[in-house]
Amino acid sequence: MSFIQSFGAAEVVTGSCHLVSLESGYRIMVDCGMFQGKVEERNFEPFDFDPASVDILLITHAHLDHVGRIPLLVKNGFRGKIVTLKSTMDLAEVVLLDSAHLMEEEYRTRYKKAQRRGEEKSVKEPLYTVEDVEDVLNMPVEYLYYDQEVEIIDNVAVTFRNAGHILDSAIIEIELKNEHKHLVFSGDLGNQNDLVMTNPKDIKDADILYIESTYGDRNHKSIRESEKEFKSVVIDTLLNRGNVLIPSFAIERTQEILCILKKMYDTKELPECKIFLDSPMAIRATNLYNAYHQELSKCCNDFFKRDGTVFDFPYLKYTLKAEDSKKINDESGCIIIAGSGMCNGGRILHHFKHRLWNHENSVLFVGYQAEGTLGRRIVDGEKWVKIYHEEIKIKAKIYTINGFSAHADQNELINWMKNYKRLNRIFLIHGEKSKQEIFRKAIAKKIKKDVHIVKQKEKIYI
Ligand code: ZN
Repeated sequence: MSFIQSFGAAEVVTGSCHLVSLESGYRIMVDCGMFQGKVEERNFEPFDFDPASVDILLITHAHLDHVGRIPLLVKNGFRGKIVTLKSTMDLAEVVLLDSAHLMEEEYRTRYKKAQRRGEEKSVKEPLYTVEDVEDVLNMPVEYLYYDQEVEIIDNVAVTFRNAGHILDSAIIEIELKNEHKHLVFSGDLGNQNDLVMTNPKDIKDADILYIESTYGDRNHKSIRESEKEFKSVVIDTLLNRGNVLIPSFAIERTQEILCILKKMYDTKELPECKIFLDSPMAIRATNLYNAYHQELSKCCNDFFKRDGTVFDFPYLKYTLKAEDSKKINDESGCIIIAGSGMCNGGRILHHFKHRLWNHENSVLFVGYQAEGTLGRRIVDGEKWVKIYHEEIKIKAKIYTINGFSAHADQNELINWMKNYKRLNRIFLIHGEKSKQEIFRKAIAKKIKKDVHIVKQKEKIYI
């Protein structure tokens, strides 16, 4: 009998990895992502399946928690075929190379420190290297388009549908023709009325639905409300001669922020200023968003039609090189968008060092700040922080805007399920257990369906 097992994103948010083992002997994997945050040690555990036995790897989208362990999969014997969208693979290249660079750098720093103590043997090797990522990029890949049904192996067809979450993110439908079963993996579902993405596509039919539940326990503040708050902080700070620092995630949030700023420029709401996009990864991601603009929202496509580019406008500058980034220190009246999103590394730290102590400046948090990160400590009101061995007093104004999200909230997830004509069994993945319990009850109440929360390695028979 065919079955599905989850080797990640089961009762946790990260590490997405689901393996469909068919009676015919074929094995199809959906995503192979990295564990992040509290569960990141799990990345170092060996896979609970033989990577060499996997025939096909389907990728829903290029976030690290969906693609981050692919280099390990290949390193450990996966020789099958990757099936995904072209832009997903392009974005995965940016994400995986960045991840490998960071891990190699961290390893070198730790190794040097341990060497001084004579303990270099105790330093854990990086999970994977740039070379391992290059091996992934040399794997055979079959590229699909949205809504194109393709038979990937005998009697198994897949269709990728727009999930509206980040650039070319997909809901994946798998048709098992021999078994007359239709499986749907939601991937991560985007929210409605996103500035950059289009709405997730409705699906009509599923024997089995594996649905993400990141925000299954709550509803977001409206995106328009958040946009308004964002604008007022930017305008007030600039008019008071301050600078705005925006720690931002490279994929999606950065492009959303650029879109809002460009709209403000268009409507003459934005005071004259210089905007620096100071993150090499965000610049690469923005270039890909621009190149694949057809997949984006109407607003983005209108920009492209008018300007020949989605995001560029006169105030915006990209600072790819480190020396250009350093020159920003001499600028005033500017908006600086830099990574990392949670401030635990990256160029935002330099800007914090130069500007956090000044009460005229503002720091605008537009994304989730996990516990233990510098971003979270600042949001929680710490008055002093240590950056590059220097104690900095925080006098800048701190703002947090929570309404931007690349994920559907509870109402949106439930409404998306309501649109099915036939939906037999629902399985929750990609969420914290306590939040999944709340989501399960909400589904039972609003759409009267039984729901199962998938456990790690549990076999779900098809
Ligand atoms: Zn995602």
